[in-house]
Amino acid sequence: MITYDFSGQNMLVTGGTRGIGRAISEAFLRSGARVFAVYAGNRKAAEDFAAANAEHGDRLSLHQLDVADYGAVERFYQWLDREIEQLHGLINNAGIRQDAVVGMMSLQEWQSVLDTNLTGVYAMSKLAIHKMLGRRYGRIINITSPSGELGFAGQANYAASKAGQIAFAKSLAREVGKRKITVNCVSPGFIDTEFIANLPEQQLAAYRQMVDLKRFGTAREVADSVLFLASEEASYITGATLHVTGGV
Ligand code: NDP
Repeated sequence: MITYDFSGQNMLVTGGTRGIGRAISEAFLRSGARVFAVYAGNRKAAEDFAAANAEHGDRLSLHQLDVADYGAVERFYQWLDREIEQLHGLINNAGIRQDAVVGMMSLQEWQSVLDTNLTGVYAMSKLAIHKMLGRRYGRIINITSPSGELGFAGQANYAASKAGQIAFAKSLAREVGKRKITVNCVSPGFIDTEFIANLPEQQLAAYRQMVDLKRFGTAREVADSVLFLASEEASYITGATLHVTGGV
């Protein structure tokens, strides 16, 4: 097992209280970081997560925040400015799906997925960059999806948002590289979380067959890759996408 030392580092994880984001937050906590975990509205899940990690409670804070609400994001960063001097890493993990074929997709289904998955990444990253530039250090990691590169029927909104995250990361990487800030993506394949739990069993079985390793991944396996890209050791990787898919 690779162990990382993030002692003294401040990590902001959106969607950091459930599923993949929870595993990322927990991995950072175990590695000594102070973690700011953002969630949308499921307070019970957030409190369960905090209770399970009570031993690191002095380094964990929970924040209910809609990443797609620019004004709320600004207010959150104003608070963060008062709380910490340096932000070392931002993990843009918050994401939603609202699947429908394009011919049946409502404007609301299109808009809400783009708002959370893409506008949220823009808002969170823009204000994180403001904090990172002066320190000439930072790690931004977007949790994207193979959907953004392969496309999936019924997921045009989600796929477009995930492709957008990759293009956003590549562009931002070019803007901030000279300040030693890296921007990358991790693309998890099918990961056993509530995110895919509502898919029909037949579809899940078909997806499993698409994976070379013939199993779904774990949130912990995704978190391990995120910690690598967030570490100082990953200093020469930027604008890249690391596929954690078991081979799709
Ligand atoms: P979950 O549905 O298990 O958790 C989503 C998290 O994001 C929750 O903490 C949720 O908060 C939070 N969230 C959702 N919308 C917002 C918002 N507007 N503002 C702030 N927080 C928000 O998802 P997963 O852990 O499975 O997925 C995490 C990421 O990984 C997503 O970006 C997803 O697209 C990506 N991904 C997942 C795959 C999978 O197979 N699971 C595969 C490929 C990519 P709350 O708890 O309050 O609802």
